[in-house]
Amino acid sequence: MRVGIDLDGVCYDFAASVREHIIRSAGRDPGRLGRHYPDPTRWEFYEDWDLTLPEFLDVCHEGVRAGVIFTHGAPFEGVPEAFDRIRAAGHTIHIVTDRRFGGPGLAEAATLRWLDAHALPFDTITFAADKTIARLDVMVDDKPANYHALNAAGVATYLLTRPWNAHVEDAHRVRDLLHYAEVIA
Ligand SMILES: [Mg+2]
Repeated sequence: MRVGIDLDGVCYDFAASVREHIIRSAGRDPGRLGRHYPDPTRWEFYEDWDLTLPEFLDVCHEGVRAGVIFTHGAPFEGVPEAFDRIRAAGHTIHIVTDRRFGGPGLAEAATLRWLDAHALPFDTITFAADKTIARLDVMVDDKPANYHALNAAGVATYLLTRPWNAHVEDAHRVRDLLHYAEVIA
């Protein structure tokens, strides 16, 4: 099978990398140091960090250029084991991610370095907002819109449970990537 895997919110703690960049760059904006950056409970978590959408997007672009976002931090627990398990079952791994901050090629380069640094093997990687283009048999994602679009396109998709997708009813869910590997492999 062609097994799809999403990165942010599935393998990688994107919000933690954004927080790390904000704290590291706080010298230019000391007011940020005293603020609280709680773990996300909704897709628009930046609003809980007192950032407007344009401010958040600026932070994301800066953070990729600074080598922090998509670089800082290890995979979630169980992710390397899940990759190994999927491979060992004879499947191919296809990463599909909607990463495009920082400028031409920067998010892509940071992602490839991170995958290499953590020895996560894959067969193809696709950078796209529309994840249905990757010709997958199965997929795991944390974004409700992707879950619905992939299922509508005939991909057996699992929603990895996060606070920001808890409202989706009757979804095929997995707890984490290792659970996904157990279910599909
Ligand atoms: Mg995601």
